[in-house]
Formats: sequence, C-alpha cells, structure tokens
Amino acid sequence: MSIRQMLVVILFASALANAQPAKSLKPEGGKQWFRGQTHTHTLWSDGDAAPELAVAWYKEHKYDFLSVTDHNTMLRGEKFFFVGEKSRLTAERVAKLQEKFGKDWVEISEAGGEVMMRLKTYDELRKHFEEPGKFILIEGEEITSKAHVNGLNVRYKITASKAETTEQAVRDHVHAVDEQGKHYHVPMISHVNHPNWGDLGVPPQDMIAVDESRFFEVYNGHGGVKNWGDEELHRVNTDRYWDIVLAVRLTNNPENILYGVGTDDTHDYFERGPGGAIPGRGWCMVLSENLEADAIMEAFKRGDFYASAGVLLDAIEWNEKEYRVSIQAEPGVTYKTIFYGTRKGADTSSKPIDFEKGKEVPNAPHQYSDQLGIVLAETDANPAVYSFKGDELYVRAKVVSSKLKPDPFKEGDVEMAWTQPSVR
Ligand SMILES: [Zn+2]
Ligand SMILES: [Zn+2]
Repeated sequence: MSIRQMLVVILFASALANAQPAKSLKPEGGKQWFRGQTHTHTLWSDGDAAPELAVAWYKEHKYDFLSVTDHNTMLRGEKFFFVGEKSRLTAERVAKLQEKFGKDWVEISEAGGEVMMRLKTYDELRKHFEEPGKFILIEGEEITSKAHVNGLNVRYKITASKAETTEQAVRDHVHAVDEQGKHYHVPMISHVNHPNWGDLGVPPQDMIAVDESRFFEVYNGHGGVKNWGDEELHRVNTDRYWDIVLAVRLTNNPENILYGVGTDDTHDYFERGPGGAIPGRGWCMVLSENLEADAIMEAFKRGDFYASAGVLLDAIEWNEKEYRVSIQAEPGVTYKTIFYGTRKGADTSSKPIDFEKGKEVPNAPHQYSDQLGIVLAETDANPAVYSFKGDELYVRAKVVSSKLKPDPFKEGDVEMAWTQPSVR
C-alpha cells in the first residue's frame, strides 16, 4: 500500500468515526441522564430575579445543572442593584429574599438616600447551592452583540465581537470560546441562540458559513424568538432551519454536524402564563458518567444529549440498520415521532430574498429547496423505529406528545423532544 493509499484509508476511517455509524444512549453502564439548563438571565443583566432566586428555582425543580448566562458579564466582582418601586428589584422582592434566605444573606447598603443590594457572585452561589452528584453550576456568559452566543464552562469573560455582520460575530464568538477552551485545556462549548429572532437572530446561510459552530437553539422558551417561524420576517421554523443547515453543511463535509439544544432564556421569574420568558419550558437531557462540568461538556461535544420541551426519553440508539427512540411515556398521553432527514444529492442551492415591498428584511434569510428536510417517516409506536434506506445524508427525530404544555411559548403548544442527527 502506498503512503497515499494509506492516507485515503485513514481519512475514510476518521470520516466514519465522526459519522458515528452506531450510537447507544441509554442509562446503563454507570451512565445516567442529567437535566440541565444552559440559558438564563438574572439581575446581573436583564433578568428580573436576584441570582440566588434563579438558581433556587432550578434546583427546587429537580434540575441537575445550571448555567447562568447573563449578557456580556460573568457573576464576578462587586455589583450593586438599585432597590426601588421602578426598579426590577423592589423593596417587596428584597423582603421575599430575606424571608427565603435569611436576613444575614441579603446585603443592603444605603448611600445618599439610595438603597442598593449587592448581587451574589458565582463563587457564593456555588458555595450555597452546589451538592456533589446532585446539583452543580456551570459558569457561562451570553456573548452578545450582532449575534448572541452562549459560552459554557468558560473561565473568564469573553468580550463581544464588534463585527458588523452577523456571520462574523457568530464566528468570533464561537472561536473565542474554542480558543479559551484550548488555552485552559478545559472542555467548553458554545451555542448559537434564537436563530429566528429578527435582528438578534442568525439566518441559515450564516450558520452554514460558520461551519465550525456545533450547537444552536432548536427550542428557546422566550416568547419573542419565533421558534415556529415568522412569515413577515421570512423565518422558517427551527426544524426546517436545522435541516437546511445540516443538509448544506454535511453535503460539503460530513464532519460539520450541528446539534440542537433546548433552553429557557429565562428573564421573568415572577409571573407565569403563555409568552414571556419564564423558567421551565426547554432544557437538555445529557447522558454522562458523572455530574461534573467537564464531563457534561464532553457529553455535549459527543452529541450525547437531546433537547426537551416537556417529553422525556429513555433511550436513543442507532446502528447501520435503524434509528430507534424509546419514549418515557406518561399514562393517557400519546406520542407521534417524526423522522426528518435529507437525501444525498439533494439540491443545496439557495437564493437571497428580495427586498420586501421596498422594506429591508432584517438579517434576510436565504431561501432553500424543499428537498432539504423532508419527513422520512412518522409513527405512533413506542419505541419509534426508522429503518435506513441507505440514501439519507442524516436522520434525526422529533417526538410530539398529545399533552398541552403548561405556560407555553405559544398558546396551544404541546410537549416535545428533539434527538440529534445520525450522519450517514
Ligand atoms: Zn439572546
Ligand atoms: Zn438570553
């Protein structure tokens, strides 16, 4: 065998390794599912709750890990928040904090007639809330400028990109997290947030261009982000968005997978109901050997997780023959599993959108062929099984339940879950 032939064999083998021809995600062999939230805000930026109240919410609701990801800041140093009737921190809310955490915990200071409360830092929150094996915090930041990208397990604050294009801002933010991870030899990930959110979103052609980005929000619980698309803004729903990006990227290079995460993007802790940005709508279930930040990050990087908006799964498995999803069924609830994919050789061309009646469409998304992202099969069975035909570029699944979601993103929403693509 010549060196050239050997190289071809090695390259082929490594491409196959990345394509993961077989995968078995189930809670066995010391692994278990951990429930985590990777997108929340507090008074450190534009959330309406003190950080300890936010963390307490997630811990009390049986989450295993949480990242507080305030805009362009980490929970470090001294920060005081104004207390007042017009502030997000009213005297009544301070009193509630004192009631919940004790008078000594809440630090109030008065100067020149102004009342201020000191915000708890990440270190203080860790000390108060963390319990090994039961609940951990993973430090994070929503790096916010022309594109919003969450950096998770980061060690120091990343300065937001000043790029004028969304594409370059996504690239800068993703690179900054990768570089920091390499520098510290620590696994870190970044996810691109709310792709459909007009000016604050990322059109599919930009996600395709930044093909080193590995994660995006297929579900973000913030009532404003248009998960289900928007006609006026020419946004397709996040399922089609995911398929467009996967189809074009994987046609070019099978390494450039994109994983989907579910998040809350919590800002509103005091009022529930449809819309708004309340805690508890979307999260990730991660299969890991232990509940440590680095292990959770490594599991994300392997794609060993799924995104949930209510539905829980027991197992996700695939091999050379089939893709299988086992649902943790609730009594009296029915489940439909949709297998999405794109066939090899599909038309990946695109065209830019014209100006709409003289009006500029913010971050105008390109238009793509209907061959990208088709329903390969639908089933009510549990486990839901799809048999590969052999011509698929990738296959992924979405489980839709018959159960209405409480306090939904949008009125009428049902509970759902999304599994990661199997690249063929
Ligand atoms: Zn954002
Ligand atoms: Zn956010």
